[in-house]
Amino acid sequence: MARIVILGGSFGGLTAAFKLKRLLGKKAEITVVSDEEKFVFVPSLPWLSLGLRSASDITLSVKPILERKGLFFLHEKAKGVDADTSKVITETKELSYDYLVIATGPYLAFEQVPGLGPDKGHTECIFTLDQAERAKKAWDRFLESPGTVVTGSVQGASCFGPTYEYAFEVDAELRKRKIRHKVPMIFVTPEPYIGHFGIGGLRNAKRLMEDEFAIRDIKIIANAAVEEFTPGEMKLKDKTKLPFKLSMFAPPMRGVPAVSHLGNPINGFIPVDGRYKHTKYKNIFVVGVAVAIAPPEPTPVPTGVPKTGDMTVRMAKTAARAIAADISGSAQPPEIPISVFCLMDMGKTAVYMKAAPVLPPRQDSVFKEGIRFKWGKVAFEKYFLWKTKHGVSRLP
Ligand SMILES: Cc1cc2nc3c(=O)[nH]c(=O)nc-3n(C[C@H](O)[C@H](O)[C@H](O)COP(=O)(O)OP(=O)(O)OC[C@H]3O[C@@H](n4cnc5c(N)ncnc54)[C@H](O)[C@@H]3O)c2cc1C
Repeated sequence: MARIVILGGSFGGLTAAFKLKRLLGKKAEITVVSDEEKFVFVPSLPWLSLGLRSASDITLSVKPILERKGLFFLHEKAKGVDADTSKVITETKELSYDYLVIATGPYLAFEQVPGLGPDKGHTECIFTLDQAERAKKAWDRFLESPGTVVTGSVQGASCFGPTYEYAFEVDAELRKRKIRHKVPMIFVTPEPYIGHFGIGGLRNAKRLMEDEFAIRDIKIIANAAVEEFTPGEMKLKDKTKLPFKLSMFAPPMRGVPAVSHLGNPINGFIPVDGRYKHTKYKNIFVVGVAVAIAPPEPTPVPTGVPKTGDMTVRMAKTAARAIAADISGSAQPPEIPISVFCLMDMGKTAVYMKAAPVLPPRQDSVFKEGIRFKWGKVAFEKYFLWKTKHGVSRLP
């Protein structure tokens, strides 16, 4: 029986686990190792940070879901991987594997910019459940005494979508409360222009986003590098000072320390082939945010390529098919170029974006706004949570 260890219990890890179980049944013993016992539907964290969701709305306990499916769960942090001897080292155990799937997501590198982040700095973040719950408390305090909001991303960031969502949602929530006129809003980003998204732009995204920010009276500062955050103020490298009452910034992302030695020495993201197999270790597969994707073009201020949930799910399914084919001795699955399908909330409405493949030149691309995409985003949340709760891997 093949021993498969999966690191990470989120979009990538759970999808790989369900798919491998379905393809291999009793031919494999599959263990998911995660330092979080809960699956968090991360795309809803911007909503949670503004009081539009609670933690119980968007989290699931992973252990019973996996055990019902005949999968094992180890609630521990992986401390390292010895790829030469095929072992995962956790806090209390060493797990030998025949195949390893790495789906550990990002390490959030707040230390890259002085004063960045909620723990040791002066900005909020909405990238984990704890951070988003803390940002909600900051939001409640802000509503009692509103002032300037400065939000966006710092240099080296790659996950831009949620920062756009946060800006649009803050605007919508303030208008709902009839206090938008008390709140100057500024969106700061390392992207060379608004709508670049780290993927070299997408169709008419630049024009549409410029219009949407203008309609909402949100000032854009693009191509920006941040020097530091101090309490209530940010300073850009060009010495511009921006005082704020509330500030939420996306940090740069890196590979997590337990696996970064298997990746690129600069950022710890891990290089893979077209079926998400490590380029050096043939029994290690990597999916989701942990994967290295080179930016489509150098930008004056560094930016990275975002890796979305949908992209992660498709990577995990391909990796699972490749592992199952290896074990069963059947034909390998086709290599599918990475594409992006994403719904970005804009408060009352939303945008549907498709980039296929993710980096230009593209065969197919869409960037459309509409109220139906907002309904679609809410429906997707319910659908994905339902699908995860039941361990379904056959559906998209
Ligand atoms: C705020 C926000 C909003 C987003 N909105 C969207 C959206 O609308 N649509 C979309 O498609 N995508 C969205 N994304 C992107 C999407 O959330 C990610 O692509 C997806 O979460 C990546 O899944 P993953 O499994 O690679 O990593 P993650 O979801 O980051 O999961 C990593 C897992 O690994 C575990 N882990 C990490 N280190 C260790 C260790 N050492 N040992 C054991 N376990 C470990 C973690 O606890 C976690 O369970 C958003 C991202 C953010 C931050």
